[in-house]
Order: sequence, then structure tokens, then C-alpha cells
Amino acid sequence: MCQVMDQMAGKTLGRLRRLPEIECLFPKTVKKALSQLEKHNGLASVIAGGTDLINCMKRRDIIPKYIIDLKGIAALNFIEKDKNGKLGLRIGAMTTLSEILESSLIREVYPILTDAVSVLANPQIRNTATMVGNLCNALPSADSAPPLIVLQAKLKIVGLAKERTILVEDFFKGPRETILGPCELVTEIMIPPPVGYGVYLKHMLRAEGDLAMVGVAVYLTLDSKKEICRNAKIALGAVAPTPMRAIKAEDALKGKPLNDDVIETVARIASEEAKPIDDIRSSAEYRREIVRALTKRAIKQSIKKA
Ligand SMILES: Cc1cc2nc3c(=O)[nH]c(=O)nc-3n(C[C@H](O)[C@H](O)[C@H](O)COP(=O)(O)OP(=O)(O)OC[C@H]3O[C@@H](n4cnc5c(N)ncnc54)[C@H](O)[C@@H]3O)c2cc1C
Repeated sequence: MCQVMDQMAGKTLGRLRRLPEIECLFPKTVKKALSQLEKHNGLASVIAGGTDLINCMKRRDIIPKYIIDLKGIAALNFIEKDKNGKLGLRIGAMTTLSEILESSLIREVYPILTDAVSVLANPQIRNTATMVGNLCNALPSADSAPPLIVLQAKLKIVGLAKERTILVEDFFKGPRETILGPCELVTEIMIPPPVGYGVYLKHMLRAEGDLAMVGVAVYLTLDSKKEICRNAKIALGAVAPTPMRAIKAEDALKGKPLNDDVIETVARIASEEAKPIDDIRSSAEYRREIVRALTKRAIKQSIKKA
């Protein structure tokens, strides 16, 4: 018996064993952070809120020799209306989810983002976690991805030599994989001016703080009488290796009258476009059914908001 207990304790202790020594670096500027990334190429990880990275390190998925902490870079913490009017809003990489949730500007102009953040994790996590960290972590279930995709948001990516922007929908390569180079940082999210109305709906196994079993974002532009759909964007989370657009479903809605038959057809097409897998949270078949139900509900709620 004692031996069994010892073995169990050993196992538990095994999981809790100390991490190897890690050097933490605290740059005050983006340029300095980029130089540190270049200097320790392949050995360093960037940390924002740390709510994902620390767990990855505890699981030994990743053990960096250096951690580059972005919290000291004040210039990355902002929510700003774009001054030259070409873009609607810019959110800095170190802006926390709580700051986004509390922003009256975002609530007023992009309520779909407020919806998404309000169901992302819990207040403790949101107080330190960032939206950019949520995207860079690149889980298929990342709650901020579907609403940013339907808003056609872009990310500003900087390296020492060059800078580029990319649509959020083109940022993901696979689970926990993005197009980000080893010496690049995301510095901000850029969201175009609002052109429609939308919602984000999330289905979870439990009530709060759980990852999405399915997430659906819908964003619609309607005609002046609110009878015809002029433009539609639909994005799905947790039903494919990356957050994805349901382009066939969007096409089936564009230019169509907003009646029950059309909405039912669009929801069915979205569920057929999803590529879910069976996992501990749900079967693929159930996920498809949830995509159908949430898409239908999200379209109806978006129309009501218009
Ligand atoms: C209890 C709990 C509940 C959670 N619930 C949810 C949930 O409901 N929905 C959900 O979507 N997620 C959830 N998460 C996951 C997590 O909290 C979010 O993904 C969070 O937004 C990550 O942000 P962060 O700032 O903490 O990222 P970090 O952990 O600091 O970083 C995550 C990854 O992004 C990289 N990174 C961060 N910032 C940058 C940057 N500027 N440039 C380049 N790379 C960068 C890091 O190197 C790391 O690889 C949960 C986590 C926990 C622990």
C-alpha cells in the first residue's frame, strides 16, 4: 500500500516538478523585444498575460530558455479610434481582455467583440490575458477569432527588418500554429469601420469559463428595409483545425430575402462546411448540429440588432 502511495505521490510530484531555470527579459520598447527575439532565436518565448504560455510550460509542451515579457511596453496597451479614418479601431497587443470588455467605445461600435470577450474564460483570466495572446495561441476554439474574422480585422506583425499586415482569417495554419515568424511580434489588431450588425454565440459543455465546443459569429449588412441581406460574413470556431469562414453559407445568404427558409438553408450549409472531429468535449456529429442551431440563431439575432 505504502509503495502504491509513494508511486502515486511520485507521479503527482513528477507532474509538478520544477521547471529548469529560465531567464526573464523585460524590454521597454518593441524594438528591444525584437532584438532580444533575434538574439535568442528559437530559445525565447514571448509572454503577454501568460494564461496560455505558463500552462504550456507546466505541461512541458514548450520550455524556453528565455521569456520576453511584453508587459513593460506601455506603447502596446491602447484602444484607439484610427486617426486617419481608414481603419475603425486599433487594439494594442498588451490590452487585456478586461480592458476590452469594459471599453464603452467597443461596446457601442463593435458589440460583437464585447459578446465574445464576456464569454471568454473568467474575470481573473481576463484581467491579465490579452486578445492578441488568444490569437497567437491559435487554438481552434479561440473565442476572439470568429468575431474578428467576420469584422475583417487585420493584425500588424513586426520584425526588425519589415512590417506586414494580415487578415485574422489568414493568420492561422493549424492547431497552435500561425504564420508568425520566430522573430516577429503582433503589435496590434486593426478593425475596419463597422458596416453591419452581428453576434457571437458560444456553446460550452459547462456554464462558464469553459472552452467553446462550437463558436459562431455572424455579421450582416442589410438593405434599407431590412428585408434583403446585402452582405454576410459567417465564421466558425472549434469545428476545424483553425477558426474558419463558412463561405458557401455566406454566399447562400447574400442578396437573399431574410425569411425562415433561407435562414434554415444557410444554417444547414454552414454545418456541412464545418470540419469537426470527435473529441472529449463532443462528437463531430453533435458539433455539426450545434453549428446549424447557432448559425440560425445568430442570423436571427443579427437581424434584430439591425
Ligand atoms: C482557466 C482558463 C480558462 C480559459 N478559457 C478560455 C475561453 O473560454 N476561451 C478562450 O478562447 N481561451 C480561454 N483560455 C485561454 C487563454 O486564457 C486565452 O487564450 C488568452 O487570451 C491568452 O492570452 P495571454 O495574454 O494570456 O497569452 P500568453 O499566454 O501570454 O501567450 C499565448 C501565446 O501567444 C504568444 N504571444 C502573446 N502575445 C504575443 C505577441 N504580441 N506577439 C507574438 N506572440 C505573442 C505567446 O508567445 C504564447 O505562445 C483559458 C485559459 C485558462 C487558464
